[in-house]
Amino acid sequence: MKCNHCQSDDIKVIESRDVADGQAIRRRRMCVACGSRFTTYERLERPQLIIIKNDGTRQLFSRTKLLSGLYRACEKTPVTSLQLDSVVNAVEQELYACGEQEVSSSKVGELVMDQLARLNEVAYVRFASVYRRFKDIASFEKELSLVRQGKHIAAEVKS
Ligand SMILES: [Zn+2]
Repeated sequence: MKCNHCQSDDIKVIESRDVADGQAIRRRRMCVACGSRFTTYERLERPQLIIIKNDGTRQLFSRTKLLSGLYRACEKTPVTSLQLDSVVNAVEQELYACGEQEVSSSKVGELVMDQLARLNEVAYVRFASVYRRFKDIASFEKELSLVRQGKHIAAEVKS
């Protein structure tokens, strides 16, 4: 590894800690030559997951894409970016636990909704409304009352 500023390869690690529920290590590093500091992340290398979309096309699973969708759903809610990060971690872990290299996008949506339902009602309903494309206000309100009663049932989804 080389310093971005002076290209020296004399880099010292000044701090290491587990992040993302132990799924990654964050290291603060310092260039001994010029003193500039930077951060690196180390993650377990895993095979790329393929997402099969509803129209049958395939796409690489992207944490970034999933996170940005979640940020939109959680705008103006008390959900923190740290919480969203652990939602994505949990989803990712479950996807890998399936042992399949290809997963349907509806499966991903289900896992996300399970996590969001525990976290924040507004965020959950927003995500669900985009994801399930509620046809009318009645099904939307039904969904909301299910969340309120803590009876969200994933099996209800039509894929
Ligand atoms: Zn340097």
